[in-house]
Amino acid sequence: MIPKYIRYLKTIDKKLSGFFESQKPYIFCKEGCSFCCETGEYPYTLVEIQYLMLGFHQLAPEIQFEILEKINKLKEAKRTHKGKFMHECPFLTDKRCSVYNFRGLICRTHGLAFYDSKGKLRVPECIHQGLNYSNVYDTEKGVMSSELFKASGFETEPVSFNLSRKFLLNNEATQYLELDFGEEKALIDWL
Ligand code: SF4
Repeated sequence: MIPKYIRYLKTIDKKLSGFFESQKPYIFCKEGCSFCCETGEYPYTLVEIQYLMLGFHQLAPEIQFEILEKINKLKEAKRTHKGKFMHECPFLTDKRCSVYNFRGLICRTHGLAFYDSKGKLRVPECIHQGLNYSNVYDTEKGVMSSELFKASGFETEPVSFNLSRKFLLNNEATQYLELDFGEEKALIDWL
């Protein structure tokens, strides 16, 4: 499945880079900003985790060791944790993704506004830190504000894309490639 996944990544990366480009006035992502990787559950399918591990095995032994230590601590913390286990991604090192080219689909969409399979608007958490979309988002109403957009003078409206897990794992490209992602679990449960 990995070769098919690599082909799929080419398609999805191209699509996502177009989305990021179109939303430029609202996106404040930059290298060294790791907000998206600091709190989450990070859903990963079997194919995604297999690919991520290919990246992990290419890292220098000392970085691998550092990551393994973080994984052990997280697993220990999860054992006694009740409810959703939100945590910093163990692959984040010095505020950078150590496996960037091998990261999962959820990580590739980090930073964009999207709607989920129920049609609910989902915005990046950093919106509340004055970052992505904060210049057009009405925090009280939980919507993109047309007033703020008009006042901004930007030409392109803020758009929320169809980036639900359901869509990312099953769309025209995955069907064409006959790409079966396999089981899905939280990242830490694979490790
Ligand atoms: S794999 Fe990389 S991009 Fe994804 S959450 Fe972890 S550090 Fe962030």
